[in-house]
Amino acid sequence: MLLYHASKHLIAQAHFRTIPRRLLSMSLTSPEAFSVEKHVAIAAVRRACLVTCTVFNQLVRDRTDTLKKEDDSPVTVGDYAAQAVINTVLRNAFPEDPIVGEEGADALRQGSNTKLRERVVSLATNALREDLIDGEKAQWGLGSQHEHSSEALLKAIDEGNDTGGPNKRMWTVDPIDGTKGFLRGGQYAVCLSLIVNSQVVLGVIGCPNIQIHPENPDEEKGCIFVAVRGQGAFQITLSGTSAIKLPFFSSEKSYVLQSEESKHTNIPLIRRVSDELHLTEWGMDSQAKYCCLARGEGAVYLRMPASTIGGKQPYEERIWDHAPGSILVEEAGGKITDSEGAPLQFGLGRGMGENHGFVATVDEELHARVISAIKRAQLAEDPKKTNPAL
Ligand code: AMP
Ligand code: MG
Repeated sequence: MLLYHASKHLIAQAHFRTIPRRLLSMSLTSPEAFSVEKHVAIAAVRRACLVTCTVFNQLVRDRTDTLKKEDDSPVTVGDYAAQAVINTVLRNAFPEDPIVGEEGADALRQGSNTKLRERVVSLATNALREDLIDGEKAQWGLGSQHEHSSEALLKAIDEGNDTGGPNKRMWTVDPIDGTKGFLRGGQYAVCLSLIVNSQVVLGVIGCPNIQIHPENPDEEKGCIFVAVRGQGAFQITLSGTSAIKLPFFSSEKSYVLQSEESKHTNIPLIRRVSDELHLTEWGMDSQAKYCCLARGEGAVYLRMPASTIGGKQPYEERIWDHAPGSILVEEAGGKITDSEGAPLQFGLGRGMGENHGFVATVDEELHARVISAIKRAQLAEDPKKTNPAL
């Protein structure tokens, strides 16, 4: 009942496109800050994970439901259905909040994609109509009393078309981050964050393929990682039981996490940094990297664009790819900046502007050492970059 009243109160607040400064500071310091948003986000991510797990078990293995997007990354029926689920929940709970989501429904509306559309609708509907578990509310669009038409679900997918920017309260959605990992049966993540006036205040990441405890490979898999600004970071199980505060683990080896995709990362540069700092490389898809770092499995996450050499930057990072992971690392006691030590930018739009890579570490002291090691590695790779006289 308490949650319900709080929810109505927050819906009323959401009519302000710019949150009044008084409300923002009050909400950021209160121990209950963003409590309703947290529960809504966990419900949305958990149900989206139901979709992705079903898709993997039923459809991925035969690869018949994969479309090509313009940027060449595979888009599956799971991507669309998971975004439909998350946006439907957000729209019901916070009707006025803008959503910056990765997918649009244009491809699904094409006549040639009828079968794909029907599968998306059926998967999203089934996940939304599952029985409520503790902490979930019917007024978020959940449970068997709600019908979800095909048009309503496609519209929900398209609700993710906000352009982002500063001075607003907005959600970011990446329904399946690490699509390639998902298709390989490896790591992927269902990612949701809330940004208020350019600051990430809540991050929720669902990782169905992450081991609940790093030391027990035989244990059931599936975790949700949750962080609220000023309230710490936690891991809960996908089934909704037992919360563990992060970090809770310490690896014997010091790992540097990096992208599994060679075209997403400057492999030689990361190798130089790893060698200098005696770190062992660990390739992994998606924001699961931030989750492993936050719980203490890894020491560093290095994201250096493949084109760092020469200062070119053909790919601009997107806010939905780093907002949830960044707050998770910070709330677990770590530090994240760009590779020159500047804060990440979440208020510029859908993209994160010009930068030359990101550095996340479990602690501040290591962060400073990684930034200096990167400078030395860049100089060794391309002396002209840091000394134009050469
Ligand atoms: P990862 O799993 O760490 O390789 O990152 C996956 C994310 O990388 C996807 O969500 C894409 O948005 C993003 N991405 C796509 N192309 C590139 C690129 N050329 N460089 C870096 N990241 C990219
Ligand atoms: Mg992504």
